[in-house]
Amino acid sequence: MNDQEHALFNALDQYVMVLDEEMGYDVEQEKLKTAVHEFVDQYFRDSEYAAELVRADEHPPDCKWHKDWHTCDCGIFDGEQK
Ligand SMILES: [Zn+2]
Repeated sequence: MNDQEHALFNALDQYVMVLDEEMGYDVEQEKLKTAVHEFVDQYFRDSEYAAELVRADEHPPDCKWHKDWHTCDCGIFDGEQK
């Protein structure tokens, strides 16, 4: 296990321990696993959203995208599916 994996492992360990407490101790492993999956899903949804926000800076200030993303006219979406 490398350092990052070790750090994540320990963080998960803590997270699952608190989850177990919150859910009432001796919670079935499957239920804990589902809760962790939901957390991970949320993490990726949030980072997708963060990526969208970063893109806002890539449109020039005069691009209509800032008012309504459908009306982008700077060409940043060219080659992407709308
Ligand atoms: Zn634009």
